Amino acid sequence: MTRSQVSPSTTADMRRDRVTEWIRPEVRALSAYHVPEVGDLIKLDAMENPYTWPSSLVDDWLETLRHVSLNRYPDPHAPCLKAALRERLGVPAGMDILLGNGSDELIQMIDMAVNGPGRVVLSPEPSFSMYRMIAAFTGMNFIGVPLNAGDFSLNMAAMREAIARHRPAVVFLSYPNNPTGNLFDERQVCELIEVCPGLVVVDEAYSSFAGRSLMDRLGEYDNLLVLRTLSKMGLAGLRLGILVGSPAWLNELDKIRLPYNINVLTQTSAEFALRHYDVLEAQAAQLRIDREHLLARMRALPGITVYPSQANFILFRVPAGKAQAIFAAIKADGVLIKSMHGANPLLADCLRVTVGAPEENAAFLTALTTALQNVLLEKNP
Ligand SMILES: *Cc1c(COP(=O)(O)O)cnc(C)c1O
Repeated sequence: MTRSQVSPSTTADMRRDRVTEWIRPEVRALSAYHVPEVGDLIKLDAMENPYTWPSSLVDDWLETLRHVSLNRYPDPHAPCLKAALRERLGVPAGMDILLGNGSDELIQMIDMAVNGPGRVVLSPEPSFSMYRMIAAFTGMNFIGVPLNAGDFSLNMAAMREAIARHRPAVVFLSYPNNPTGNLFDERQVCELIEVCPGLVVVDEAYSSFAGRSLMDRLGEYDNLLVLRTLSKMGLAGLRLGILVGSPAWLNELDKIRLPYNINVLTQTSAEFALRHYDVLEAQAAQLRIDREHLLARMRALPGITVYPSQANFILFRVPAGKAQAIFAAIKADGVLIKSMHGANPLLADCLRVTVGAPEENAAFLTALTTALQNVLLEKNP
């Protein structure tokens, strides 16, 4: 058959066959990370900070961008930005910083650096879904160890057993844990660091809402790295992740990094934001206060279980079988949250809401209250 005789449908079939032949099976088995359409909905699904900057600050920021040279590659080592981060995040002396295009990229770099035949990534579950996904697309084995069902604390016996059996190259601990919102017990985290043969990455994406960190303990453990991000503090659009640890580890990981992974706009904007860190900290403090209000109001509602949170989101469980209906009713009322139902057996009937600005939280509470009333009415007509 000449090219002109090949019908479009045959070309499509042949293309599909070739994709099947050449794209790795573990990649074909993945589903892409789903980001829903937002439109006019109030966005309480992705742990974003709802606040923008005062307009005078926006003007100053735009002014700094005037001096950026878009024709030049960014500085691959970003020394000014790292110096500012060192100060703001309280990086201990002797520890280094590695920057990623979001902390997702740093997780990927870690997995790529430790990958090899039979190598294992381990994390308690439910936890941040990217630990499992990135392990899959870097071709590593992933072991998820269930958390305790009642309070989502670490199941230490199961963790010890899995670590001894699988000897993971890297263990990820989300501290506080996404999507459950709790902080694991610090002594238990330290015990796991002690028994792990490989790396332990403590992911502190929500540290500004928890006030707890293992940053100060980096010097005590030779296998500990601390992961941070500016995303949940109010700069999700910049994509800046920060890995902190000893030069012995970070120098190796740095070889995996693509040389210009942090673009000039991000470097300049992040440096600017760090000069005004008090604004970000005040926003985080406000969100912590509003989280407590929202928790109290939600706990007063009949029919749901509300889990404690040290982060900027709240996990709650609705009456059995009603998660989809309640999620949809809240969305129909103009508020987008996240359904965790189906993500993990321990998250059956669970929904997760991000703490937003007070009027957004109020809209969510009204929508949730109505949705629950309708569901409970249905049950007892
Ligand atoms: C949101 C989140 C991240 C991702 O942060 P980025 O820096 O935006 O890539 C990492 N870890 C946890 C636990 C998160 O919830």
